[in-house]
Amino acid sequence: MSDTTDLTPDDVGKEVASPANDSPTSAPPAASGGFLADLVAPVAGFGVTFSTMFRKLETEEYPEQKRPTAPRFHGRHQLNRHPDGLEKCVGCELCAWACPADAILVEGADNDDTPIDEGGEGRFSPGERYGKTYQINYLRCIFCGLCIEACPTRALTMTNFYELADDDRGKLIFTKEQLLAPLSEGMVAPPHAMVDGMEERDYYLGKVTGGDPA
Ligand code: SF4
Ligand code: SF4
Repeated sequence: MSDTTDLTPDDVGKEVASPANDSPTSAPPAASGGFLADLVAPVAGFGVTFSTMFRKLETEEYPEQKRPTAPRFHGRHQLNRHPDGLEKCVGCELCAWACPADAILVEGADNDDTPIDEGGEGRFSPGERYGKTYQINYLRCIFCGLCIEACPTRALTMTNFYELADDDRGKLIFTKEQLLAPLSEGMVAPPHAMVDGMEERDYYLGKVTGGDPA
């Protein structure tokens, strides 16, 4: 009598009878619920179908109808401005360092109080530096919000806008121009000087309330 340890290469793939299956004491297959249960089971299944048919529909006709998001929904980013139009971003790169997905590129540059028409580069933000290059790669971004937590000037916030799908990968890398908040009434597009008589800290103390660039 042989057992499975005596298998030869010729035996591979052949069905080997299990002693348990040959045993007259093997357990029979599980008993069914009987004739009545077999008859009722499909009807019970259709009961679920029919009850679902008359429920209130939860289908959302997107994009024809758009549901408003929760107020704190994490959507597309925005680079904010001071009330006179100067940019809040100071090019510190803290948002880029905080990003776990490496989705942000920032390159800072020095502000220049010499106006462009006098050969300078102009002032884009109060203080020493500004974000010269700013990009967010929405192919990488996971909308975690760590970048806006890291921003010391509240320059970077998130909007509720979520329609960011595209069939062109290049279009999902947003530039500074795309991310900058639009100019509100009274704002003047930078570069320009700070409001007359104000210094950098006054912007953060809320003393600048409107556009009056010197
Ligand atoms: S939301 Fe998160 S993943 Fe997206 S840019 Fe900010 S830190 Fe990076
Ligand atoms: S958005 Fe904020 S954290 Fe990022 S570079 Fe500008 S100031 Fe710094």
